[in-house]
Amino acid sequence: MAHLLDGSTLADQVKSDVSAALDAWTAEGHRPPYLSVVLVGTNPASEAYVRGKERDAAEVGIETDTIRLEADIAEADLLEQVEDLNADPSVDGLLVQLPLPDHIDDRTVIDAIDPAKDVDGFHPQNLGRLLLGNPSFIPATPYGIVEMLDRAEIDVEGMNAVIVGRSNIVGKPLATLLMQRDRNATVTVCHSRTRNLTAHTREADLLVAAVGRAHFIGADQVQDGAVVIDVGINRVDDDSREKGYRLEGDVDFDAVEPRASYITPVPGGVGLMTRAMLLQNTLTAARQNADA
Ligand code: NDP
Repeated sequence: MAHLLDGSTLADQVKSDVSAALDAWTAEGHRPPYLSVVLVGTNPASEAYVRGKERDAAEVGIETDTIRLEADIAEADLLEQVEDLNADPSVDGLLVQLPLPDHIDDRTVIDAIDPAKDVDGFHPQNLGRLLLGNPSFIPATPYGIVEMLDRAEIDVEGMNAVIVGRSNIVGKPLATLLMQRDRNATVTVCHSRTRNLTAHTREADLLVAAVGRAHFIGADQVQDGAVVIDVGINRVDDDSREKGYRLEGDVDFDAVEPRASYITPVPGGVGLMTRAMLLQNTLTAARQNADA
């Protein structure tokens, strides 16, 4: 039976550390950190994520402001809004909730964010610094995963780490973090063109699923004793639930759990860590802003 990597407990630890650091920071006479969130349109999942971010921030004493913009806003007007927030010294952290409507290019908007306020860590300057192993804002999901491993005292040095999924927000930055000299895992990144995926995943001491397909990883894909991290958040129709759906991970938890040494649940795993690491990044941004 696997140990459960409980995102709720571990994220509470992160939040309590951020909250304590923030109290010490304000006791020194600094104002509380300030996070601006830009939400374009009314995508229900994005609305829910933004509400979660507002709640988390309030919990630790970070001030937030959500700027809600119409779904048909012109890209140029959105860029102007970003420029205004970049120029506002009272804004420490700034994020634009993704995905954006189809007529707006996500990359153009991310590139416009001041890298010093880029608490999502998606700006090319931050991703480049991450690759080089220099201090940077780290995207919250991979940051949450390594924080989770650290807090559970799982040392990945020398492990075969296999990541399924190569997105810019999860797979690629996580591969970078795991292969750095302070972590020393041997990393394989798989994707939809990988031949014989199971041959790779069965070699994994640390298996990370970031695919976006419910129950994609079954027991046959997992080596006995593997540490299994499930990033996936998939809505599966379920009439028995009030909302009409339930959330499932990319890993078939019930099948894989008996083989794994550690496993994250969905919900209640990586998603909660992701939310907590945004708070950590916002505190870092405030400190840097004060020093600038
Ligand atoms: P993307 O859609 O950007 O990437 C999915 C990756 O999975 C791609 O690299 C894709 O390969 C790969 N893939 C798809 N099908 C297969 C297959 N059959 N075999 C092997 N690889 C495959 O997704 P994200 O990285 O944004 O998100 C992944 C999941 O994680 C989603 O469920 C998302 O909701 C969730 N998520 C959860 C977060 C959290 O906080 N817990 C945060 C962010 C995301 P290719 O590149 O070849 O297309």
